[in-house]
Amino acid sequence: APSLLWFRQDLRLADHPALVAAAAAGPVIPVYVLDDEGPGDWAIGGAQRWWLHGSLASLAKDLEALGSRLILRRGRSEAVLANLLEESGAERVHATKHGEPWWRAADAALGERIELHDGNHLAPLGSICTGGGKHYRIYGSFWKALQGSLPPEKPVPAPKKLTAPARWPKGDKLADWHLLPTKPDWASDFHGTPGEATAQNTVRAFAAKVGDYEAHRNLPAEEGTSGLSPHLHHGEVSPRAVWHAMAGHKDAEKFLRELAWRDFTDNLTLDLPDYADRNGRPAFDKMKWRKAPKELRAWQQGRTGYPIVDAGMRQLWQSGWMHNRVRMITASFLIKHLLIDWREGERWFWDTLVDADYGNNSVNWQWIAGSGVDANMWSRIMTPIGQSEKFAAADYIRRWVPELADLSDAHIHDPETNGVRPDNYPAPIIGHREARERALAAGRAIR
Ligand code: FAD
Repeated sequence: APSLLWFRQDLRLADHPALVAAAAAGPVIPVYVLDDEGPGDWAIGGAQRWWLHGSLASLAKDLEALGSRLILRRGRSEAVLANLLEESGAERVHATKHGEPWWRAADAALGERIELHDGNHLAPLGSICTGGGKHYRIYGSFWKALQGSLPPEKPVPAPKKLTAPARWPKGDKLADWHLLPTKPDWASDFHGTPGEATAQNTVRAFAAKVGDYEAHRNLPAEEGTSGLSPHLHHGEVSPRAVWHAMAGHKDAEKFLRELAWRDFTDNLTLDLPDYADRNGRPAFDKMKWRKAPKELRAWQQGRTGYPIVDAGMRQLWQSGWMHNRVRMITASFLIKHLLIDWREGERWFWDTLVDADYGNNSVNWQWIAGSGVDANMWSRIMTPIGQSEKFAAADYIRRWVPELADLSDAHIHDPETNGVRPDNYPAPIIGHREARERALAAGRAIR
C-alpha cells in the first residue's frame, strides 16, 4: 500500500527524513493541504501566499523529476488527510514535526495514522529542557543547553526516485487557489525567489561571507544577513543543512547562534501555545493601550515622520521583508512611542512578511514589548533617531523614502530638527521625549 507524505512547512526534497521514511515503505503520494480553517486567526497571511505559490510550483516540478507528483487539496487538514487515506488505500501519513498549535491539533486528530519525523530543527523539537524537564524561557540558557546536541545530525540526501502509486488521486490546480495577489505587484520588488534551488544557492552564497556577519548584521543599508528567513520558514532548506554549510567557515559562530533562535522560539511556543495572543507577563493585561487607528495606519503606511521607522515599514509593504534591526526599531516605536498593543503590530507583520512565523514573530514582539516570559524590560525604549545614526541607515532611508533622498547623511535621520523636512514628508507624529515619558508612566501604572 502507498503512504501519504504530508508537506507543511518543509517544502523540500533534501534532508527530509519523513520523505525518506515514506519512500522506504513503498509507493508515495506527496500531498499539500491549504488549510485556512485549522489555524483560525493565524491562517497564512497575504505576503506568504505569494511565496507559497512559488514554493509549491517549484516543489511540484522537483517531484515530477523524480517520477512523482504533488497532490493539492484544500480544507481542514485532518479531514482532508482522512479522506485521502481512505480514497487511496494508503496506510499512513508521514510528516515532519512542527510546533505550531494548529499542526499539533491536526497531528493529535490523526492519532496513529500519522508518523512524525524530526527535520525542521537543529535538535528534535521539545528535546532541549532543563534537568527538571522544563522548557527554557531565556535564550542564553537555551543556547547553552543546545550545545549538548550540537553539531546537529548530518543532512540526508534527497531520494533519487519515488515509486508512484498504482492510481493517482485527484488534486486541485495551483492556479485555482489564487494565491498571487493582484495588488501590490510584489513580484517586481520582492525579497528573494521561492523554491528549494534558490534556497540552496542562497546558502552557498552566504557561506562565502558568513565571517562578515557579526560586523555587518546590524546595518540595514547593507546586505549583511543571509536573507534565508522565508526559505527557512517554508522549509525549503533545513536548519541542519544551513548549519553544516556554515560551520566549516571561519567566524560562523555568531550566525549559528542567531540561527538557533528559531529552535528557541518554537520550543517556547510549544510550551506556551497561545503566546501569539496572550501576554507572557500577566501584569501586561492591565496595560492601558491606546486605541489610535489613525496612528496605527500612519505606522503601517510609513508616515510617522521618523525616517528610519517609515523606511522600514515601506520596505515591509513593498518587499515583504524587513531588516532585523529595523524590525526592532519599528516594533518598539509602535509599542512604546504610540502605546499601541503589540498584537496590532504582530498581526500586521503576519500579513505582510514573507517569513511570517508563529514562533519567531510572537516571541520577538513580546520581547520588544517586555511583556514576554524572557528577560527584556518595558523601560528599555529605543530612540529611533539615535538608532538610525548609530547603524548608519542613511542609504537605507534614501532607498525606501524617496522624498528624503536628497538630504545629507548628517540631516537625513532627523529632518524636522535639522530644519530640512520637505513639504511632502510628514512632521513627527509625536515628540520622542513626550512619548518616552508617557510610556514610562504607563509602565509604572502596571507594576
Ligand atoms: P539572519 O540574520 O541571516 O539569520 C538567519 C536565520 O536565523 C533567520 O532566517 C531566522 O530563521 C533566524 N533568526 C535570526 N534572528 C532571529 C530572531 N531574532 N528570532 C528568530 N529567528 C531568528 N523572523 C522570522 O523568521 N519570522 C518572523 O515572523 C519574524 N518576526 C519578527 C518580528 C520582530 C518584531 C522582530 C524584532 C524580529 C522578527 N524576526 C522574525 C526575526 C528576524 O528579524 C528575522 O529572522 C531576520 O530579520 C531574517 O533575516 P535573515 O534571514 O537575513 O536573518
